[in-house]
Amino acid sequence: MHAIKQNISSLKRRIANSANQCGRDPSSVRIIAVSKKHNLDSIKAAYDQGIRDFGENYLQEAIQKIELYKPKNIIWHFIGPIQSNKTKLIANNFSWVHSVDRIKIAERLSSQKNPDLPDLNVCLQVNIDDETSKVGFSKNEIMTVIPYLQELSGIKLRGLMAIPKFRRTMDEQRKPFYELQQLFMRISNQMQNNTSFDTLSMGMSSDLEAAIYENTNLVRVGTDIFGKRP
Ligand SMILES: *Cc1c(COP(=O)(O)O)cnc(C)c1O
Repeated sequence: MHAIKQNISSLKRRIANSANQCGRDPSSVRIIAVSKKHNLDSIKAAYDQGIRDFGENYLQEAIQKIELYKPKNIIWHFIGPIQSNKTKLIANNFSWVHSVDRIKIAERLSSQKNPDLPDLNVCLQVNIDDETSKVGFSKNEIMTVIPYLQELSGIKLRGLMAIPKFRRTMDEQRKPFYELQQLFMRISNQMQNNTSFDTLSMGMSSDLEAAIYENTNLVRVGTDIFGKRP
């Protein structure tokens, strides 16, 4: 668990360095610790270092952890692929969902969330590379669906998320992040005074510097906090 402490301090140094290089405030970059496949001891070790945001991909695994571990102010983020028969559990156990990739999923989260719970924070996943996998909204489609999704009750549109394919160099990594940022700006302008649309969820262990240069405010980091997944 000692490694986790050191990993978090070097991660914070990396974030601070990149932020300083491009004139940003390092505290504007929020860290989501991606704890999928890692156990509660690892999560506790990160919590003890001040991490409050945790990201999970696999619903069953996540629910077990959420039920067993309820420290103060912890925030759970669902970041994995969403099957439509899992939306109810997701809506009622997480504060954030980053991987909303089609209209039907947004509608189900909206209608199935317990109205007594606070609004669910939602990022729309964008298929930024137009890869054949087809996960996520296309860049064109997203502009047209936003006005509708914005009206759904119980969910709050917070921003965009993308997982670009692997690229080796910083310059190459910046391109898809730049595109996502541009798309985000276009949508923000279209939404005018919606101040809660404020989140670019982009950047992981291997490309977070590039994401910081392109204005991410939320990096999802697994390996560089917890080590390789078992
Ligand atoms: C696993 C995962 C991460 C973390 O990836 P690392 O390379 O381990 O930092 C971030 N985002 C999503 C959507 C993931 O599935």
